[in-house]
Amino acid sequence: MSRFFSDKYSSLKPYVPGEQPKEMIYIKLNTNESPFPPSKKAIELATAEAAALNLYPDPTCEKLRLAAAAALNISSDKIIFTNGSDDILNFAFMAFCSPVAPAVFPDITYGFYPVFAALNNIKTIVVPLKSDFTIDIDGLKKAKGTIFLANPNAPTGIALTRSEIEGIVKADRNRLVVVDEAYVDFGAESCISLTDSYDNILVVQTFSKSRSMAGARLGYAVGCKELIADLETIRYSTNPYNINRMTMAAGIGALFDEKYFKDNISEIISTREYVVEELKKMGMNVLPSKANFVFASSSRLSGETIYKELKKRGVLVRYFSVERTREYNRITIGSRKQMEIFIKVIKDILEEQK
Ligand code: PMP
Repeated sequence: MSRFFSDKYSSLKPYVPGEQPKEMIYIKLNTNESPFPPSKKAIELATAEAAALNLYPDPTCEKLRLAAAAALNISSDKIIFTNGSDDILNFAFMAFCSPVAPAVFPDITYGFYPVFAALNNIKTIVVPLKSDFTIDIDGLKKAKGTIFLANPNAPTGIALTRSEIEGIVKADRNRLVVVDEAYVDFGAESCISLTDSYDNILVVQTFSKSRSMAGARLGYAVGCKELIADLETIRYSTNPYNINRMTMAAGIGALFDEKYFKDNISEIISTREYVVEELKKMGMNVLPSKANFVFASSSRLSGETIYKELKKRGVLVRYFSVERTREYNRITIGSRKQMEIFIKVIKDILEEQK
């Protein structure tokens, strides 16, 4: 740390992203990326746009907003785009939390929420998950503050229904609920339709997972136009050019390619069901996932041993060494071929330790 670093940030513990190995010797199942390339249309439009990189991108993201609004059947003043959905989440902590509205979230959830809270000097109220790793809905309803709810939750993969979330939104119309739907396309119910009836819900989505564009960094939020205007105030006060030209073009291309998007999702879901079944056959405990990953543990081997043994054999998964989840690993659903190898490798590991 330099002597110039502000006291405000000196104790900040930054988010630790999953490993990104330089050499691709691993079957990479650790950061919930899509195993499929971006849509051909996305690549085509992004490539054509490269010739205009001497010019700033459109700060209003107009074409992209119009394309997304048409795809989602909403008006274009209800949507904002950012550089990945992490940006939106940070903006939401900045815009919608305060001393009277601390950030409320479960104890096991996306690890960036406490970091955004610390970065923005926001107090937090943590509502622990129940013992079966499901969300404590009543606990959230009672909490006073701005709720951040990943649905499906990460890293558990467990989802609430739309009507359960509507119950939380309705319980206090003067409290904002931010629903982080990074993984919603893999089998959960989106709450976007609730943004027509409630002005206290903001839905956050991303192109990183189901649209195979993690490397492009494109996220968005949908909510009533007043909430979106507040987020735009923050965006224009940080970096109005936060979506680069190629990403904007790729996003439009991806939205034109609905069939590719839907086909990839069905493939991931059916591969997930195969993985769950195989892991259960080996006696592993697998939480019910509606995401492109599963969270699994074994009564025979510790989470850390499984993580290390997999890594030794060239398979990378995500291990979180915190108290309640240290027996588990989060395994991204890759291609069918990758997952067949993963199943074979984990079977060998369990057999060897018998
Ligand atoms: N929310 C959740 C729950 C996530 O797991 C992630 C991915 N790490 C994000 C948001 C952010 O995704 P991105 O910034 O790539 O859109």
